[in-house]
Amino acid sequence: MTEAPTAKPWISAIEAYVPGRAKAAAGVKLVKLSSNENPLGASPLAIEAMRAAVGSANRYPDGSSHVLREAIAAQHGIEADRIVCGTGSDEILQCIALAYAGPGDEVLYVRHGFMVYPIAAERAGATPVAAPDTDYTADVDALLAAVTERTKIVYLANPNNPTGTLIAQSEVERLHAGLPPHVLLVIDSAYAEYVEEPGYDDGTALARVHANVVMARTFSKIYGLAAERVGWAYGAPGVIDMVDRIRGPFNVTSAGQAGAVAALADQDWVAKCRAENTRNRAALVEAIEALGNKGLRAVPSAANFVLVTFPESGPCTAEAANAWLTERGFLTRWLPGQGLGHALRISIGSDDETQAVIAALRTFLS
Ligand code: PMP
Repeated sequence: MTEAPTAKPWISAIEAYVPGRAKAAAGVKLVKLSSNENPLGASPLAIEAMRAAVGSANRYPDGSSHVLREAIAAQHGIEADRIVCGTGSDEILQCIALAYAGPGDEVLYVRHGFMVYPIAAERAGATPVAAPDTDYTADVDALLAAVTERTKIVYLANPNNPTGTLIAQSEVERLHAGLPPHVLLVIDSAYAEYVEEPGYDDGTALARVHANVVMARTFSKIYGLAAERVGWAYGAPGVIDMVDRIRGPFNVTSAGQAGAVAALADQDWVAKCRAENTRNRAALVEAIEALGNKGLRAVPSAANFVLVTFPESGPCTAEAANAWLTERGFLTRWLPGQGLGHALRISIGSDDETQAVIAALRTFLS
Protein backbone atom coordinates (compact mmCIF):
# COMPACT_ATOMS: atom_id res chain seq x y z
CA MET A 1 0.00 0.00 0.00
CA THR A 2 1.23 3.53 -0.70
CA GLU A 3 1.71 5.92 2.19
CA ALA A 4 -1.57 7.28 3.65
CA PRO A 5 -2.32 10.99 3.32
CA THR A 6 -1.30 13.02 6.35
CA ALA A 7 -4.03 14.04 8.81
CA LYS A 8 -3.98 17.33 10.67
CA PRO A 9 -1.32 17.00 13.39
CA TRP A 10 -3.78 17.62 16.22
CA ILE A 11 -6.02 14.86 14.87
CA SER A 12 -3.31 12.22 14.63
CA ALA A 13 -2.26 13.06 18.21
CA ILE A 14 -5.69 12.11 19.61
CA GLU A 15 -6.14 8.85 21.44
CA ALA A 16 -9.43 7.15 20.59
CA TYR A 17 -12.11 7.07 23.28
CA VAL A 18 -12.37 3.53 24.66
CA PRO A 19 -15.79 2.80 26.16
CA GLY A 20 -16.43 0.20 28.88
CA ARG A 21 -15.87 -3.36 27.67
CA ALA A 22 -19.17 -5.15 26.99
CA LYS A 23 -18.08 -8.81 26.82
CA ALA A 24 -17.58 -11.34 29.61
CA ALA A 25 -15.62 -14.58 29.40
CA ALA A 26 -17.53 -17.55 27.94
CA GLY A 27 -20.09 -18.95 30.39
CA VAL A 28 -19.88 -15.95 32.76
CA LYS A 29 -23.04 -13.90 33.30
CA LEU A 30 -22.42 -10.24 32.56
CA VAL A 31 -23.22 -7.56 35.14
CA LYS A 32 -22.55 -4.34 33.23
CA LEU A 33 -21.90 -1.52 35.65
CA SER A 34 -19.42 0.36 33.50
CA SER A 35 -21.33 2.95 31.47
CA ASN A 36 -23.87 4.59 33.81
CA GLU A 37 -26.85 3.17 31.96
CA ASN A 38 -30.40 2.73 33.25
CA PRO A 39 -30.66 -0.88 34.48
CA LEU A 40 -34.47 -0.83 34.16
CA GLY A 41 -34.33 0.15 30.50
CA ALA A 42 -36.46 2.66 28.66
CA SER A 43 -40.14 3.27 29.40
CA PRO A 44 -42.32 0.60 27.74
CA LEU A 45 -44.11 3.48 26.02
CA ALA A 46 -40.83 4.62 24.48
CA ILE A 47 -40.09 1.12 23.24
CA GLU A 48 -43.52 0.92 21.65
CA ALA A 49 -43.03 4.30 19.95
CA MET A 50 -39.62 3.25 18.62
CA ARG A 51 -41.05 0.01 17.21
CA ALA A 52 -43.68 2.01 15.35
CA ALA A 53 -41.06 4.46 14.03
CA VAL A 54 -38.94 1.69 12.55
CA GLY A 55 -41.75 1.13 10.03
CA SER A 56 -40.62 4.36 8.32
CA ALA A 57 -36.96 3.42 8.27
CA ASN A 58 -36.80 4.14 4.53
CA ARG A 59 -37.55 7.84 5.15
CA TYR A 60 -35.05 10.36 6.52
CA PRO A 61 -35.87 11.63 10.00
CA ASP A 62 -37.07 15.15 10.73
CA GLY A 63 -33.74 16.96 10.45
CA SER A 64 -34.71 19.60 13.00
CA SER A 65 -36.22 17.20 15.56
CA HIS A 66 -39.18 19.56 15.63
CA VAL A 67 -41.67 17.46 17.62
CA LEU A 68 -39.01 16.40 20.09
CA ARG A 69 -37.87 19.98 20.66
CA GLU A 70 -41.48 21.01 21.28
CA ALA A 71 -41.88 18.15 23.77
CA ILE A 72 -38.64 19.06 25.59
CA ALA A 73 -39.70 22.72 25.67
CA ALA A 74 -43.09 21.85 27.17
CA GLN A 75 -41.58 19.52 29.74
CA HIS A 76 -38.93 21.99 30.87
CA GLY A 77 -40.77 25.29 30.44
CA ILE A 78 -38.25 26.61 27.90
CA GLU A 79 -38.38 27.88 24.30
CA ALA A 80 -38.23 25.25 21.53
CA ASP A 81 -36.29 27.58 19.22
CA ARG A 82 -33.49 27.76 21.78
CA ILE A 83 -33.05 23.98 21.79
CA VAL A 84 -30.88 21.89 19.48
CA CYS A 85 -30.87 18.10 19.44
CA GLY A 86 -27.78 16.00 18.87
CA THR A 87 -26.58 12.46 18.25
CA GLY A 88 -26.23 12.11 22.00
CA SER A 89 -25.06 15.13 23.95
CA ASP A 90 -21.57 14.05 22.82
CA GLU A 91 -22.27 15.52 19.40
CA ILE A 92 -23.34 18.80 20.93
CA LEU A 93 -20.31 19.00 23.21
CA GLN A 94 -18.15 18.41 20.14
CA CYS A 95 -19.98 20.98 18.00
CA ILE A 96 -19.46 23.57 20.72
CA ALA A 97 -15.71 22.94 20.73
CA LEU A 98 -15.56 23.11 16.92
CA ALA A 99 -17.56 26.33 16.85
CA TYR A 100 -15.80 28.21 19.63
CA ALA A 101 -12.22 26.94 19.94
CA GLY A 102 -9.34 26.20 17.60
CA PRO A 103 -5.55 26.15 17.42
CA GLY A 104 -4.07 28.54 19.98
CA ASP A 105 -7.18 28.53 22.16
CA GLU A 106 -7.62 26.89 25.55
CA VAL A 107 -10.55 24.80 26.71
CA LEU A 108 -10.89 24.50 30.44
CA TYR A 109 -12.37 21.61 32.38
CA VAL A 110 -12.06 20.04 35.80
CA ARG A 111 -9.39 17.49 36.61
CA HIS A 112 -11.20 14.12 37.01
CA GLY A 113 -13.89 15.51 34.71
CA PHE A 114 -15.64 13.94 31.74
CA MET A 115 -13.00 12.67 29.32
CA VAL A 116 -14.92 13.78 26.25
CA TYR A 117 -14.07 17.45 27.04
CA PRO A 118 -10.33 17.22 26.36
CA ILE A 119 -11.02 14.98 23.36
CA ALA A 120 -13.51 17.51 21.97
CA ALA A 121 -10.97 20.29 22.46
CA GLU A 122 -8.22 18.30 20.75
CA ARG A 123 -10.43 17.48 17.78
CA ALA A 124 -10.95 21.21 17.37
CA GLY A 125 -7.18 21.76 17.52
CA ALA A 126 -7.45 23.62 20.83
CA THR A 127 -5.49 22.95 24.00
CA PRO A 128 -7.36 21.26 26.85
CA VAL A 129 -6.46 22.63 30.27
CA ALA A 130 -7.45 20.73 33.43
CA ALA A 131 -7.98 22.82 36.57
CA PRO A 132 -7.29 21.01 39.85
CA ASP A 133 -10.29 19.77 41.81
CA THR A 134 -10.73 19.43 45.57
CA ASP A 135 -11.63 16.00 46.91
CA TYR A 136 -12.93 14.96 43.46
CA THR A 137 -15.18 18.03 43.32
CA ALA A 138 -15.03 21.01 40.94
CA ASP A 139 -13.16 23.89 42.59
CA VAL A 140 -14.48 27.21 41.32
CA ASP A 141 -11.48 29.18 42.57
CA ALA A 142 -9.10 26.82 40.79
CA LEU A 143 -11.15 27.03 37.60
CA LEU A 144 -11.20 30.83 37.68
CA ALA A 145 -7.47 30.94 38.42
CA ALA A 146 -6.83 28.81 35.32
CA VAL A 147 -8.66 31.19 32.95
CA THR A 148 -6.32 33.04 30.58
CA GLU A 149 -6.94 35.40 27.68
CA ARG A 150 -6.80 32.30 25.48
CA THR A 151 -9.63 30.48 27.28
CA LYS A 152 -12.66 30.10 25.01
CA ILE A 153 -14.78 27.41 26.70
CA VAL A 154 -15.28 26.07 30.22
CA TYR A 155 -16.95 22.64 30.42
CA LEU A 156 -18.54 21.78 33.76
CA ALA A 157 -20.45 18.56 34.39
CA ASN A 158 -22.75 18.92 37.39
CA PRO A 159 -23.02 16.20 38.69
CA ASN A 160 -19.56 15.34 37.48
CA ASN A 161 -18.63 12.12 35.72
CA PRO A 162 -16.65 10.01 36.78
CA THR A 163 -16.69 11.29 40.37
CA GLY A 164 -20.46 11.82 40.89
CA THR A 165 -19.87 15.02 42.86
CA LEU A 166 -22.15 18.03 42.73
CA ILE A 167 -21.45 21.70 43.31
CA ALA A 168 -24.05 24.10 44.68
CA GLN A 169 -25.98 26.38 42.36
CA SER A 170 -24.36 29.36 44.12
CA GLU A 171 -20.95 27.96 43.10
CA VAL A 172 -22.01 27.56 39.46
CA GLU A 173 -23.23 31.16 39.56
CA ARG A 174 -19.94 32.31 41.11
CA LEU A 175 -18.05 30.52 38.33
CA HIS A 176 -20.14 32.23 35.67
CA ALA A 177 -19.82 35.63 37.33
CA GLY A 178 -16.03 35.29 37.39
CA LEU A 179 -15.67 34.42 33.71
CA PRO A 180 -14.99 37.07 31.08
CA PRO A 181 -18.07 37.43 28.83
CA HIS A 182 -16.27 36.03 25.78
CA VAL A 183 -15.82 32.66 27.54
CA LEU A 184 -18.62 30.16 26.91
CA LEU A 185 -19.71 28.19 29.99
CA VAL A 186 -21.06 24.74 29.08
CA ILE A 187 -23.08 23.22 31.91
CA ASP A 188 -23.37 19.51 31.20
CA SER A 189 -26.28 18.08 33.18
CA ALA A 190 -26.33 14.53 31.83
CA TYR A 191 -27.22 13.23 35.31
CA ALA A 192 -29.67 16.01 36.31
CA GLU A 193 -32.64 13.70 36.81
CA TYR A 194 -30.85 11.80 39.58
CA VAL A 195 -30.10 14.88 41.67
CA GLU A 196 -32.19 15.29 44.80
CA GLU A 197 -30.36 18.19 46.45
CA PRO A 198 -32.68 21.15 47.07
CA GLY A 199 -31.82 24.25 45.07
CA TYR A 200 -30.20 22.30 42.24
CA ASP A 201 -30.58 23.79 38.78
CA ASP A 202 -29.49 22.00 35.62
CA GLY A 203 -28.13 25.17 34.04
CA THR A 204 -31.45 26.40 32.64
CA ALA A 205 -31.57 29.41 34.94
CA LEU A 206 -28.20 30.75 33.76
CA ALA A 207 -28.64 29.69 30.11
CA ARG A 208 -32.01 31.49 29.99
CA VAL A 209 -30.51 34.91 30.65
CA HIS A 210 -26.85 34.85 29.64
CA ALA A 211 -25.49 34.84 26.10
CA ASN A 212 -22.39 32.89 27.18
CA VAL A 213 -24.05 29.88 28.86
CA VAL A 214 -25.31 26.70 27.25
CA MET A 215 -26.54 23.61 29.02
CA ALA A 216 -26.54 20.05 27.69
CA ARG A 217 -28.82 17.15 28.57
CA THR A 218 -29.23 13.57 27.41
CA PHE A 219 -31.77 10.78 27.00
CA SER A 220 -29.00 8.20 27.54
CA LYS A 221 -29.18 8.08 31.33
CA ILE A 222 -32.45 8.07 33.27
CA TYR A 223 -34.52 7.84 30.08
CA GLY A 224 -32.71 4.62 29.20
CA LEU A 225 -32.15 5.47 25.53
CA ALA A 226 -28.34 5.28 25.35
CA ALA A 227 -28.42 3.13 22.22
CA GLU A 228 -30.59 5.66 20.37
CA ARG A 229 -28.12 8.55 20.79
CA VAL A 230 -30.36 11.48 21.69
CA GLY A 231 -29.09 14.57 23.46
CA TRP A 232 -30.02 18.23 23.47
CA ALA A 233 -28.81 21.64 24.46
CA TYR A 234 -30.53 24.84 25.54
CA GLY A 235 -28.92 28.22 25.38
CA ALA A 236 -28.73 31.67 23.90
CA PRO A 237 -30.02 31.78 20.29
CA GLY A 238 -26.55 32.65 18.99
CA VAL A 239 -24.93 29.59 20.53
CA ILE A 240 -27.74 27.24 19.49
CA ASP A 241 -27.49 28.64 15.96
CA MET A 242 -23.76 27.81 15.79
CA VAL A 243 -24.35 24.22 16.92
CA ASP A 244 -27.19 23.93 14.41
CA ARG A 245 -24.88 24.95 11.57
CA ILE A 246 -22.33 22.22 12.15
CA ARG A 247 -24.30 19.29 13.58
CA GLY A 248 -25.16 16.38 11.30
CA PRO A 249 -28.11 17.27 9.06
CA PHE A 250 -30.21 14.22 10.10
CA ASN A 251 -28.45 13.68 13.38
CA VAL A 252 -31.24 12.06 15.43
CA THR A 253 -32.92 8.95 14.05
CA SER A 254 -36.70 8.74 13.71
CA ALA A 255 -36.80 5.98 16.33
CA GLY A 256 -34.65 8.10 18.65
CA GLN A 257 -36.93 11.12 18.26
CA ALA A 258 -40.11 9.07 18.75
CA GLY A 259 -38.64 7.19 21.70
CA ALA A 260 -37.52 10.39 23.39
CA VAL A 261 -40.92 12.06 22.95
CA ALA A 262 -42.68 9.02 24.47
CA ALA A 263 -40.10 8.76 27.24
CA LEU A 264 -40.66 12.39 28.21
CA ALA A 265 -44.39 11.74 28.47
CA ASP A 266 -43.82 8.88 30.91
CA GLN A 267 -42.58 10.74 33.98
CA ASP A 268 -43.91 7.94 36.24
CA TRP A 269 -41.24 5.71 34.74
CA VAL A 270 -38.62 8.39 35.39
CA ALA A 271 -39.74 8.68 39.02
CA LYS A 272 -39.55 4.91 39.47
CA CYS A 273 -36.03 4.80 37.97
CA ARG A 274 -34.92 7.68 40.18
CA ALA A 275 -36.28 6.01 43.33
CA GLU A 276 -34.55 2.70 42.48
CA ASN A 277 -31.31 4.51 41.80
CA THR A 278 -31.46 6.39 45.09
CA ARG A 279 -32.18 3.19 47.01
CA ASN A 280 -29.46 1.10 45.37
CA ARG A 281 -26.92 3.93 45.48
CA ALA A 282 -27.52 4.20 49.24
CA ALA A 283 -27.12 0.42 49.59
CA LEU A 284 -23.83 0.46 47.68
CA VAL A 285 -22.49 3.45 49.61
CA GLU A 286 -23.46 1.87 52.93
CA ALA A 287 -21.71 -1.37 51.97
CA ILE A 288 -18.56 0.51 50.90
CA GLU A 289 -18.55 2.51 54.13
CA ALA A 290 -18.75 -0.76 56.06
CA LEU A 291 -15.59 -1.78 54.19
CA GLY A 292 -13.80 1.39 55.30
CA ASN A 293 -11.52 -0.70 57.49
CA LYS A 294 -10.27 -2.33 54.25
CA GLY A 295 -9.34 1.08 52.90
CA LEU A 296 -12.38 1.61 50.65
CA ARG A 297 -14.22 4.91 50.38
CA ALA A 298 -17.30 5.96 48.43
CA VAL A 299 -17.02 9.49 47.04
CA PRO A 300 -20.40 11.22 47.69
CA SER A 301 -22.46 10.90 44.51
CA ALA A 302 -25.54 12.70 43.20
CA ALA A 303 -25.67 10.54 40.05
CA ASN A 304 -26.28 6.93 38.99
CA PHE A 305 -22.79 5.72 39.81
CA VAL A 306 -20.34 5.85 42.69
CA LEU A 307 -16.59 6.36 42.55
CA VAL A 308 -15.01 3.95 45.02
CA THR A 309 -11.41 4.54 46.03
CA PHE A 310 -9.14 1.66 47.04
CA PRO A 311 -5.82 1.38 48.91
CA GLU A 312 -2.89 2.56 46.75
CA SER A 313 -0.87 -0.58 47.50
CA GLY A 314 -1.25 -4.09 48.91
CA PRO A 315 -3.39 -6.93 47.60
CA CYS A 316 -6.65 -4.93 47.40
CA THR A 317 -5.86 -2.20 44.90
CA ALA A 318 -8.42 -0.94 42.39
CA GLU A 319 -6.41 -2.57 39.63
CA ALA A 320 -6.58 -5.95 41.37
CA ALA A 321 -10.29 -5.49 42.11
CA ASN A 322 -10.94 -4.58 38.50
CA ALA A 323 -9.21 -7.72 37.22
CA TRP A 324 -10.93 -9.92 39.81
CA LEU A 325 -14.40 -8.49 39.14
CA THR A 326 -14.00 -8.57 35.36
CA GLU A 327 -13.11 -12.24 35.46
CA ARG A 328 -16.38 -12.87 37.28
CA GLY A 329 -18.47 -10.87 34.82
CA PHE A 330 -18.71 -7.61 36.80
CA LEU A 331 -17.78 -4.78 34.49
CA THR A 332 -17.01 -1.54 36.33
CA ARG A 333 -14.81 1.33 35.17
CA TRP A 334 -11.15 1.57 36.09
CA LEU A 335 -9.76 4.86 34.85
CA PRO A 336 -5.99 4.97 35.29
CA GLY A 337 -5.73 7.32 32.30
CA GLN A 338 -7.69 9.94 34.21
CA GLY A 339 -5.54 9.91 37.31
CA LEU A 340 -7.97 7.49 38.96
CA GLY A 341 -5.88 4.33 38.96
CA HIS A 342 -6.78 3.95 42.64
CA ALA A 343 -10.53 3.91 42.05
CA LEU A 344 -13.38 2.11 40.31
CA ARG A 345 -16.48 3.85 39.07
CA ILE A 346 -19.41 1.52 39.71
CA SER A 347 -22.71 2.26 37.97
CA ILE A 348 -25.86 1.68 39.99
CA GLY A 349 -27.56 -1.46 38.70
CA SER A 350 -30.83 -3.20 39.51
CA ASP A 351 -31.52 -4.50 43.03
CA ASP A 352 -30.03 -7.88 42.14
CA GLU A 353 -27.00 -6.41 40.40
CA THR A 354 -26.31 -4.10 43.33
CA GLN A 355 -26.49 -6.91 45.86
CA ALA A 356 -24.33 -9.09 43.61
CA VAL A 357 -21.56 -6.50 43.19
CA ILE A 358 -21.59 -5.79 46.93
CA ALA A 359 -21.20 -9.51 47.64
CA ALA A 360 -18.43 -9.77 45.04
CA LEU A 361 -16.51 -6.85 46.57
CA ARG A 362 -16.82 -8.39 50.03
CA THR A 363 -15.48 -11.71 48.72
CA PHE A 364 -12.61 -9.97 46.91
CA LEU A 365 -11.59 -8.15 50.09
CA SER A 366 -11.88 -11.14 52.40
N1 PMP B 1 -21.90 14.23 29.61
C1 PMP B 1 -21.57 13.43 30.62
C2 PMP B 1 -21.10 14.04 31.89
C3 PMP B 1 -21.64 12.03 30.47
O1 PMP B 1 -21.27 11.24 31.47
C4 PMP B 1 -22.09 11.50 29.24
C5 PMP B 1 -22.22 10.02 29.02
N2 PMP B 1 -21.19 9.25 29.44
C6 PMP B 1 -22.40 12.39 28.22
C7 PMP B 1 -22.32 13.74 28.43
C8 PMP B 1 -22.78 11.93 26.84
O2 PMP B 1 -23.96 11.29 26.78
P1 PMP B 1 -24.66 10.96 25.41
O3 PMP B 1 -23.74 11.30 24.28
O4 PMP B 1 -24.96 9.52 25.48
O5 PMP B 1 -25.87 11.82 25.38
